[in-house]
Amino acid sequence: MNIRIDANPGGMAVLAPDEFGYFGEYGGPIDDPRIAALLQEISDAFDTCMADPTYTDELMSLRKHYVGRPSPVYHARNLSPEGGAQIYLKREDLNHTGAHKINHCIGEVLLAKRMGKKRVLAETGAGQHGVALATACALLDMECEIHMGVVDIAKEHPNVSRMKILGCDLVPVSMGTGTLKDAVDSAFISYMKDPENMFFAIGSVTGPAPYPRMVQAFQSIIGQEARKQFIDQTGGLPTEVAACVGGGSNAIGLFSGFLDEPDVQLVGVEPAGKGLDTSDHAATLTLGKPGVMHGFRCYYLQEDDGEPSPVHSVASGLDYPGVGPQHCYLKDAGRARYESATDKEAFAAFMELSRAEGIIPALESAHVVAYAMRQAPKMSPDQSILLNLSGRGDKDIDFVIETLGL
Ligand SMILES: *Cc1c(COP(=O)(O)O)cnc(C)c1O
Repeated sequence: MNIRIDANPGGMAVLAPDEFGYFGEYGGPIDDPRIAALLQEISDAFDTCMADPTYTDELMSLRKHYVGRPSPVYHARNLSPEGGAQIYLKREDLNHTGAHKINHCIGEVLLAKRMGKKRVLAETGAGQHGVALATACALLDMECEIHMGVVDIAKEHPNVSRMKILGCDLVPVSMGTGTLKDAVDSAFISYMKDPENMFFAIGSVTGPAPYPRMVQAFQSIIGQEARKQFIDQTGGLPTEVAACVGGGSNAIGLFSGFLDEPDVQLVGVEPAGKGLDTSDHAATLTLGKPGVMHGFRCYYLQEDDGEPSPVHSVASGLDYPGVGPQHCYLKDAGRARYESATDKEAFAAFMELSRAEGIIPALESAHVVAYAMRQAPKMSPDQSILLNLSGRGDKDIDFVIETLGL
């Protein structure tokens, strides 16, 4: 199968699924007819909005004046090894709220508003998706309901406080293990009570169709900007573009700008946690197997009975047993390469980028920095790696100080 690139009406080139929402054999629709009807409504509304200049103009205006786009591309000269490849950073950490998630949250809330919905709801693990969504809801005057496990609430004080200040209804979930998985179930139960008035906002390129293509379209701005900025600065294309992969939204966003350039190597970096030879990692594409999880087909880390495995990463945003269908497809097609970095490598990269460039990365983003630090010395000075710095590290500073004993 060929990689198809559609210029959707927002002017963004993206990987296009087939009419059922499959990227190759991954992704796809949901079986349940009642939910399928709700998702079809979202899919139709999304297509209508993307073809409506009043929607796309508002989205582009908010990106510019509210989020602060375009985010810069920065040549990290101090981080680039002598005699090795040059490292460039796409600075998504400089967005309002400090990460790329605001890109799709604004798109989704704007869509919900156009659909006449009253309330947006979602689950959150560490609270990053919750904060970005609560921000977009405050901005666009939409009710917001976030489900979060009680264990996570106890762990993530600053994000819990942010969500409260932003005015969202935080629903503590104590059933099961009181973590992300239970928050997903709880949010879904709430959604099914009143789907006519509610919009379920998914936080990555995961879940059933149309979420993967929708979130991808909102994140593809990263790659579109980065490509133009890189060419303006260097006169050519990067040798490699790289991003960390949790669900895969920031990575597919960056890749979107370069899919049609076969000479540009696409690299996704997964969390190897305590090591690929342990069970404490979340290296889905590296060690997972294809199957159906959370309503879509993807590679995922699974137990013998097909249940998703418990996963681990020091970066909570990467701690997911599955991955977006686009990445499964790109892996099988050989178009993208998936590598991994351990917790330990991420900590080292976190410190290195902070001290070499004065940029404190999110622990999630530190995984791709670790990859670049490993890879660049093997390349030549006329080559380059453009990596996506998906978020800033403010949220991680206390944890890093404690862990490294600084
Ligand atoms: C959530 C998050 C990620 C992982 O999500 P993707 O969908 O894989 O992009 C990466 N970096 C940061 C800063 C995040 O908040």
